[in-house]
Amino acid sequence: MLKISHFVIALAKTLELNWKTYRSDGNSDVFVEFTLSLNGLTEQLNRQHLPGLVRACQELENTALALFGDQSMHPIAQHQANAIEHQLTIILDELKRYETPAVTTRRVSDGEQTHGEGWGHPRKVLIISHENHPWTASLSEQLRFFGLTPESRRWDEPRREEETPLATVFIPDHENCIYPPANHSYIKLLRNHFPTSYFYCLSVPSSLECIVELQRAGADVCVPVGNKVSDLLSRILDLVKTRETEVNRVLIVEDSATAVAMIKRSLSQHGIDSRAINDPRQLLEAAADYRPDAILMDMYMPFCTGVEVTRALRQIPEYKAVPVIYLSSETDIAQQVEALRLGGDQFLTKPINPIILAAVVKTKIERYREMLYSGRHDSLTGLLNHSTSKGQIETWLRASSPTRSLVVVMIDIDHFKSVNDNYGHPVGDQVIRSLAWLLRGRLRTSDIIGRYGGEEFILALPDVSTARAISLLERIRENFASLPHAHANGALRATFSAGLAALPAYTTASSLIEAADQALLEAKRNGRNRLVLAPDSAPD
Ligand code: GH3
Ligand code: MG
Ligand code: MG
Ligand code: MG
Repeated sequence: MLKISHFVIALAKTLELNWKTYRSDGNSDVFVEFTLSLNGLTEQLNRQHLPGLVRACQELENTALALFGDQSMHPIAQHQANAIEHQLTIILDELKRYETPAVTTRRVSDGEQTHGEGWGHPRKVLIISHENHPWTASLSEQLRFFGLTPESRRWDEPRREEETPLATVFIPDHENCIYPPANHSYIKLLRNHFPTSYFYCLSVPSSLECIVELQRAGADVCVPVGNKVSDLLSRILDLVKTRETEVNRVLIVEDSATAVAMIKRSLSQHGIDSRAINDPRQLLEAAADYRPDAILMDMYMPFCTGVEVTRALRQIPEYKAVPVIYLSSETDIAQQVEALRLGGDQFLTKPINPIILAAVVKTKIERYREMLYSGRHDSLTGLLNHSTSKGQIETWLRASSPTRSLVVVMIDIDHFKSVNDNYGHPVGDQVIRSLAWLLRGRLRTSDIIGRYGGEEFILALPDVSTARAISLLERIRENFASLPHAHANGALRATFSAGLAALPAYTTASSLIEAADQALLEAKRNGRNRLVLAPDSAPD
């Protein structure tokens, strides 16, 4: 039963207070504080995967930034203040709803097997379509299976007083046609009622005008024609997925204590952790210890220049891609270009605007993380790829103590070739994705889940008994067998077989995987849709 974090509530209260203070004294510094706290709140909401609220905050941020100006612009005009207040109230009201225990979540009917962390967001999905649209039924069925609560509504049906849905899906009457004006008006109407819900418009023709019009009406995502229900499902599941929230770490290489203090303050206001060194000769040691996601590099320091340090850093494979942002009072364009050419990513001129600094750092880290992420994950399912999952098992074994347990599972979908042959590759892909989502939804974040090959998956479950792993897997196997996979003429069902092997009978990653693989083959030979345990891994 995860609610929105207390940190977010505290930030929201600060924001509210800053706004009240500004309204009473009209001081431009307070306005800056207000914008900064708003920016911090957006960041936190983003980490909690609440895209609807993030969008509402970003819109307010844009409104506020447009009014930054100089001191003479403050206090801002009444109508401008009203506009901000309106947007702010929507955000705060929405956050207060999260605060109440009424907004708890129901997990997939999993009884004692509530094995993973709950999803802490309201999970209603509103589907707008004409009555009995075939997509509505199949989408609803799948959403329900993954623990979301679908509710369907006709286009133009009057709105009821109700809780904001996590997502709202619009299905037009005709595929590949411009949405008629009545649909636009209805989307707009709902947008006003549900400012923080995430809006998906399906079957949007690839016309710029059409997309722009829908965005203006309030669409967040325009799903192109041809992408069917299955694709939408994974997008909605993406919305609720809980990826571990990571701290952003920045290493500051800067000889001026004043500059360091100012930078550290700006970064911490935006929830970014930082560490500083004043001598570039400490860099390698500090980087190895702190593992920064980005480096802020002063251009001029006593021992050598920032450019020299960056070039040296880039010689080491681990740091080839870590973002380096130069800080300098340099205004010479030629020197800046040279600095960038020699391995920097961005140039910021001192005195540094704290909002720009935080924005640049966050953007660079985000791109860097995305790059690392796509190198380690499989693009179809979002699970770890083959080499990373194997590598993580090896790392786990190296770091763990002899008393801990580990169960390795190899899973392979049964007769998968016939799914492809009978329904086509895209339907096959969706079956793979569904199993990935089911595994992700049922396992803990501490479990290793990888896509090992085409329709093969690997799991490593630490600190569970073999008996418990078997009962969990049996449950997943049964659930997967009953999961409908939509195709053009209805729905198909698929099954999987699995082999399990556990410590201490097998001690290395390779032997665990090999034993689980042999057990999987045995499961196939014995008739499929079953689990087999490797010899000597039996529950004690
Ligand atoms: P078994 O029960 O023995 O596992 O039978 P099977 O048909 O699943 O076994 P086989 O290994 O012969 O077939 C796997 C098929 O999976 C072959 C390949 O075309 C298909 N496949 C592999 N990767 C993908 C993918 O990414 N998407 C889709 N749609 N199919 C894939
Ligand atoms: Mg310096
Ligand atoms: Mg296979
Ligand atoms: Mg197979």
